[in-house]
Amino acid sequence: MMYRRIKVWLMNNWVKLLVITAVVLLIFFTIVGLASLESFYLNLTLATLPLQLLMTALNAVIFVYLYMSVFQGGFSKMKKSKTKPGTVNVKFSDVVGLEQAKKEAWEVVQLIKDRSKLKAIGGRILRGMLMVGPPGCGKTLLAKAIATEAGIPFISIAGSEFVEVFVGVGASRVRKLFKQARQLAYAEGSCIVFIDEIEVIGRGRTFSYMGGGEETNSTQNQLLVEMDGLGSKAENVIVIGATNANEAVLDAALLRPGRFDRKIYIDKPNLQEREQLFRYYLSKVRHNPDLDIGHLARKSVQKSPADIENVVKEGALIATRFGKEQVEYTDLSKAIERIELGVEHRKMMNPHEREMVAFHETGHLVILYLLHPTDDVFKASIISRGPALGVVHHSPREEMYTMDKQTILANVKVSIAGYVAEKLRFGTTSTGVASDFQSAMLLAHNMVWSMGMGGNGYLGDFAQVPEAQLSESLKERLNAETEKILKTCYEDTERTLRKNWKIVERFVKELLEKEELDYDQIDVIFGEFGKAHPVVLSIPATLSVPAIAQAATPASETPAAAEVTKVAETKSPRSKSNSKKASA
Ligand code: ZN
Repeated sequence: MMYRRIKVWLMNNWVKLLVITAVVLLIFFTIVGLASLESFYLNLTLATLPLQLLMTALNAVIFVYLYMSVFQGGFSKMKKSKTKPGTVNVKFSDVVGLEQAKKEAWEVVQLIKDRSKLKAIGGRILRGMLMVGPPGCGKTLLAKAIATEAGIPFISIAGSEFVEVFVGVGASRVRKLFKQARQLAYAEGSCIVFIDEIEVIGRGRTFSYMGGGEETNSTQNQLLVEMDGLGSKAENVIVIGATNANEAVLDAALLRPGRFDRKIYIDKPNLQEREQLFRYYLSKVRHNPDLDIGHLARKSVQKSPADIENVVKEGALIATRFGKEQVEYTDLSKAIERIELGVEHRKMMNPHEREMVAFHETGHLVILYLLHPTDDVFKASIISRGPALGVVHHSPREEMYTMDKQTILANVKVSIAGYVAEKLRFGTTSTGVASDFQSAMLLAHNMVWSMGMGGNGYLGDFAQVPEAQLSESLKERLNAETEKILKTCYEDTERTLRKNWKIVERFVKELLEKEELDYDQIDVIFGEFGKAHPVVLSIPATLSVPAIAQAATPASETPAAAEVTKVAETKSPRSKSNSKKASA
């Protein structure tokens, strides 16, 4: 190893060595030459020397400046191309959550360690690996942990660093990167190259003559050439690419065997993992040891590890602002709301308007609590935030990847419940229902038109067919079905609210008094009326594994799942817009 390291050092530094030798020799000859001169000429030469040096330096500066600004696009580009080689120190135990991904990554570590055994058997050596998952979920951290545990150096670069105005620069950067990696591998036995945002250079190649995609093409081609070249060399370089995008956008050539043929899917953390994450990040701040981490984990469905770190930091800020000694549950709860809903922004409302908002939000709240099969209410508030005059914040007890008919119907009922409550109390309604109707309508429409969930037996996704090809009578029947769903939901909602009107009035009173009600307070009040429902805490870990795999399949392969996701998407803005928008 020592010999190899010296050799690599010599390879990288031979130019410097040559220059230093030349300079030393020149100085030596100058001194010898000067010593042999007569005193007059000696003085003359020495007198002009400073001026000569100054002129040379000035010339050099002017030349470098012109060169950088004309040919290299300014000095700022100089730093960019640098990769950071060297050893990293991230242990597997430092990667919190991500249990499934960690298991797969551990296998990769074993493969790297056992490669001589693998070679003896004749198996294929691992060359490329892809990490796919949403941002902030710890892909970089996991890649570093693989390098640390395998005990090999780690070079990282982001895909965007290859993108240059000048054609060919990206490709030459790839060449440089791999040269560096091969040297490191030669010296240290092995090396990991981590390319973040690989979709920037790895997108499906286009062959336009307009020049648009050509730079990316040449960069990507170079990457493919380099990766294919790795196999023939003795040096073991492993390339790990990371992407936030769906892997379907990547060029098929990248995913071929021998390139990025192994994949690790990284998903948003599940309930237990979120608990671990809270525990981990909270251990770094002074906090109340009794605070309910389980609650926090349930409240932060769909949050990434980076989000959770952010929540804890924001919570610490809030605690400091209120002069507390340690972080309490309420601080973290506030932090989640601030991140999700925006900062509170009180408006002066007249008492009648305020009461109407209270009834509206109570409508959402009561229906949600009594009729929704999967969601919990976490907060009801009539404090305005941004354009919203009030909000009922709710989220699924555990991450859901699909929704059934019953759940969608419940969502429709929850959406229109604000309207129903206003109507029942005042006999009239406000403009605050517009966004609620928007989401209710969209849900009902999609049920009938796209998911075969209407009552009339029509199956298929009619939204896929050009409108001109659908007969008028078919459209009428489908729309009538949508209307019927809304009507039935309205009747259900009205019946439920009437039956529980005492609870509604109680919540309105509480909201007008306290402005905000938390999960626990809401639970207690329903308990007084004998309606509290037990909370289902966690789903066994074995159940969540296939769910991850299912969610990770590309949308293009499972059109049904994609359609459901669309509904899920229309649902998420609604959970925020379960609120009265400011009336103009
Ligand atoms: Zn509403």
